[in-house]
Order: sequence, then structure tokens, then C-alpha cells
Amino acid sequence: MTQNGFMSKDYYKILGVDKNASEDEIKKSFRRLAHEHHPDKGGDQQKFKDINEAYQVLGDKQKRAKYDQFGSAAFEQGGFGGAGAQGYGDFGFGGGFGGQGFNINMDDLGDLGDVLGGMFGFGGGGRGRTKRGSDLEAELQIEFLEAVFGADKELKVYKHDKCGKCSGSGADPGSKITTCATCQGKGRIQQAQRTILGTFNAVVTCPDCSGRGEKADKHCVECHGTGVKKQEKTLVVKVPAGISSGEGLKIAGEGEFPGPGGKAGDLYVRVRVKSHPTFSRNDHDVVSEMRIPFSLLALGGKIDVATVDGDVTLKIPEGTPAGTVFKLRGKGVPYLHGYGRGDHLVTILPAVPDKLNREQRKTLEDLKGLGM
Ligand SMILES: [Zn+2]
Ligand SMILES: [Zn+2]
Repeated sequence: MTQNGFMSKDYYKILGVDKNASEDEIKKSFRRLAHEHHPDKGGDQQKFKDINEAYQVLGDKQKRAKYDQFGSAAFEQGGFGGAGAQGYGDFGFGGGFGGQGFNINMDDLGDLGDVLGGMFGFGGGGRGRTKRGSDLEAELQIEFLEAVFGADKELKVYKHDKCGKCSGSGADPGSKITTCATCQGKGRIQQAQRTILGTFNAVVTCPDCSGRGEKADKHCVECHGTGVKKQEKTLVVKVPAGISSGEGLKIAGEGEFPGPGGKAGDLYVRVRVKSHPTFSRNDHDVVSEMRIPFSLLALGGKIDVATVDGDVTLKIPEGTPAGTVFKLRGKGVPYLHGYGRGDHLVTILPAVPDKLNREQRKTLEDLKGLGM
């Protein structure tokens, strides 16, 4: 149905989708292509522009309908003449496509938006972007055996949290909601960004309503409209089996909450493993030392060795030298990322008695006489 005589770009072709593609398919394809042709990764600048241009139109229901009817000329600067400019002015494309500028929806780009922001000097997380709270750090002490087998541990974090009364919206739960005048309820506005590559019309989250598109007439009394409450929260941290002391766990969304419409940061938990009276660790092996009577080393026999799985019987061969290391296979620490476990390495040493009864003393004297 493209009926204009101007050069018309096939936005569907640019995004690699067919004309009946769903909104989701279009979005997915856009994200994939935008990453692929991202100039920062050596992608082609023009191609990247085209992809963004195509998505600005096909990613929007109304614009897509217009495009299906009129083709891309409807969206190109001057392409539709005066009438076009008026007719589509409400889409906010003023000076957008063609020529020097192009539009980028920063939020749709996800991480890439931040990269671009840095690249073109918008400043990631800057004015109008979805606010993100600070990340937090905490330390968690766990027992040796909890590190070996994993555990659910409680961790108390004092932080700026979502207000419980208004669920972080800042609005009184019973208040009247009105449409935000700044963005006309869209939650997003266009912001011209001058850069060395020309002018961007960055689509950003509305700063007045934080992207919600609406405002409440009464503030939440609990948080005075900030949506935030500083409070202690008890979290349950899932410590995976096999974690080592000093390793970190990231708990997404448990950092500071920045306020209405914002996204909480993440919590980074550093794990400290307490020492154990019997066991220590060498990577995924558990290491221990055991002292047994000298006679057992000389004559051989069986002993019980304590492991993280409980006692294991170990056969001591006749004439075992002091300091021999025995390996108990698979009795070590589970691999954090993968299958299997390390081993238990036990060093066998002779125990020297610090007290002897008369009989023991007599026998040892006899042995000494025999050159032992
Ligand atoms: Zn509140
Ligand atoms: Zn707004």
C-alpha cells in the first residue's frame, strides 16, 4: 500500500522481520541487531542508524500503522511536505530522521543504552533515565561446613527500602490519580541531545512522573511521598555449596531503592568462611591431620578418619611412614560450578604420649632395648 513516490525504506527488511511480525518479534530483532551493529563494537554507523530508525517506527503501534499505509516517507524530514510535518508532529519526530539526527529509545536498548550514553555523553543513568539505586555491599560469615554443603543464611541489611505503605510509589494508597502533563501520560519524553555526531532525539523516561505517566494528588504519609523508607531488612541468602572464603554473591534488586519509578540497585555479599577446628581447605580438597599410635603405623591396622561426611574407615598398611598423606576420594568440597567433589587429604602422624603408665613405660623401655 506504499503510495508515495519518494524513496522509501523497507523498515521490515531492515529489522529482518516480516510484515506480520508481532511486537515482541520486532523488539527482539531490534535488540539483537542493535547489539550486532553497535558502532562501539565496530559496527556500521549507517546501518545502526537505519536499525534505530526502523525500530522507532515499527516498535510503536500508531507509527507502524502509519508506515504500513504511507511508507517511510511519512517519517522523513520534509518527505511529506508541510502537511506531513503537521500531521505527524505529535509523534515528536521534529527534526528527527533523515539528515543529521536519529532517534534512539534509550530504555529499549537496555545495557546498550548505557554504553551509548557514555559514548555520546548523555551520561548513563542521567537526567530522565530510569533511576537506579546504589549497589550495596555486605559481609556474611558462615561456618566451614555451610561453605561445603551450602546453606540458607539470614542477613540483615539496613538500607533505603521501598516504603511498605505505598509500595514505593510515594502516593497515598487512596489518592486520586491524574495524567502527567509533562509527558501526556506516555511516561516518556524526547530530549534533544547535541553530540559530535549530530543531534539525537533521545526518548527518555519522563522526569516529572518517573515514567509512570500519572501523578497522585495525595502523598503517602508514611514516606512523605518519597516512596523510600530507611529500614532494616532481613534477607535469606542462598549460599551455594562449594563457595570459598572471599567469594561474592550478587543479590539483584536488594540494593538501595531510589524512589518512585526507580529500580533498586543490587546487593553484593562477600562471604567469609570461619575456620574449623579439624578441617581446612585447599581449593576443593579438605585437608586434615591425624595422630595415631606409633604402633599402628608400624604394624598396620584400621582407623576412623573424620571427614565432612562423617567418619570413614581408613586402612593403614604395615610400615607406614610418619607424615604419609592418604586420599579419601570424593570426600572433599563440591565444585561450585559443575559436578563432583574434591578429595579429603589426611596426613597421618604418630602420636607421642605425654604420660605413660608403668606398663607402657616398661614396654617402651623394652622396645628401646630392641633398637626401636
Ligand atoms: Zn510511602
Ligand atoms: Zn510524565
